[in-house]
Amino acid sequence: MPTERFRLKPPTDGHKILIVDGHLKVPDDPIVPIIEGDGIGPDVTRAARRAISAAVDRTYSGRRRISWCDVPAGEVAMFKYGELLPPATLDALREYVVGLKGPLTTPIGGGFRSLNVALRQALDLYSNTRPVYWIPGVPSPMVHPERMNIVIFREATEDVYAGIEWQRGSEEAKRLIGILAKDFGVKIPDDAGIGLKPISEFKTKRLVRKAIRYAIENHRRSVALVHKGNIMKYTEGAFREWGYEVARQEFPKETVAQSEVDRNYGGAPPKGKVVIKDVVADNMFQQLLTRTEDYDVLATPNLNGDYLSDAAAAQVGGLGVAPGGNIGDAHALFEPIHGTAPKYAGMDKVNPTAEILAGVMMLEYLGWREAGDALRNAVKKTIGQKIVTYDLARQMEGAKEVKCSEYAEAVVRNL
Ligand code: NAP
Repeated sequence: MPTERFRLKPPTDGHKILIVDGHLKVPDDPIVPIIEGDGIGPDVTRAARRAISAAVDRTYSGRRRISWCDVPAGEVAMFKYGELLPPATLDALREYVVGLKGPLTTPIGGGFRSLNVALRQALDLYSNTRPVYWIPGVPSPMVHPERMNIVIFREATEDVYAGIEWQRGSEEAKRLIGILAKDFGVKIPDDAGIGLKPISEFKTKRLVRKAIRYAIENHRRSVALVHKGNIMKYTEGAFREWGYEVARQEFPKETVAQSEVDRNYGGAPPKGKVVIKDVVADNMFQQLLTRTEDYDVLATPNLNGDYLSDAAAAQVGGLGVAPGGNIGDAHALFEPIHGTAPKYAGMDKVNPTAEILAGVMMLEYLGWREAGDALRNAVKKTIGQKIVTYDLARQMEGAKEVKCSEYAEAVVRNL
């Protein structure tokens, strides 16, 4: 049993990112905590760290640099320190505000609850943000993958994922079933497990606010509120109502509802205004396939957003290339959307593109947009040259298959 506790040794040569009036104040040498993660995590995070540092160095000619600070979580932390998420790791993520992570293992069924969920809840990273766009050359099942260019803002702290659930036959489940029968006249089978689905006004509004702000600042055309409100009226239906309310009350000049566009503008939105519309979740899945280019920014509750973001990622080439950000009011933790793919652990084989593009998101979040653009372009160029890892090589004709670390070197050469 390990006895040593993890204590953070912060780098001696960087500075903290500060939060001033709710905004980030980023020094030229920010300390950025990095969790390598489990399985293929160390391979992809090392590749990404190399590529991100090189992009910053080249873009700003050495004037700026990231001071990486390794913090343990997951299996490594368990093995060395006897804890999956050492308190000092959480403290570091809080203290240094912005971080990068690799994937972490979550066993299905028993054992511990998802570390990712724990991190999101502890740091209140309420928006799981996923840009989904096609990189030319990446094999896709679609005829026109280039039509996809969306950003999904998925609420990440409530809904049926809040973890409020009880096993069938447990005391809690029995009591709830009893209360529901007695006080509400609702009959639930005795052998049912029970889960709750809270969706609140405050948490919906802060998520939709973030999506609308992003759309305005990035000159996007629309924000679609995705919901299943026709069936779940007081949770998903309320999500839709509160979403429209935020737009109406807080962004009256910058936004216009689709219904108003149809009524007052003959279907053509006034120039410069972000159109707010809503789409029922199951329809959204087919719309993304059939009318891909009509969608831009999406705001979704937790569960539907989870399904939708993986389905959207599949349309542009799948998990190996899709990044995500867990973002709160100021704190943020960027990661690839894929998991730990344990069978490839330590083989220097898998695709680090998703982790590198998570780095692009992080650079943009720091306000280092030029470095982010340079890195994204270098990734595009490398894939355009058909220098790819096994996953893309097996689907591409004439590809040069390289290892994970070799791919990162190719990206660095293309900066
Ligand atoms: P996974 O780790 O994403 O792997 C599924 C398959 O996707 C792999 O076998 C591989 O396909 C492909 N793949 C994933 N990442 C790739 C990459 N970088 N390059 C190339 N191919 C890649 O999904 P999983 O097996 O369902 O999950 C494993 C563990 O990861 C679970 O414990 C899960 O809970 C966890 N997980 C963590 C996160 C996170 O930390 N955010 C997210 C998702 C899952 P081929 O076999 O076809 O080559």
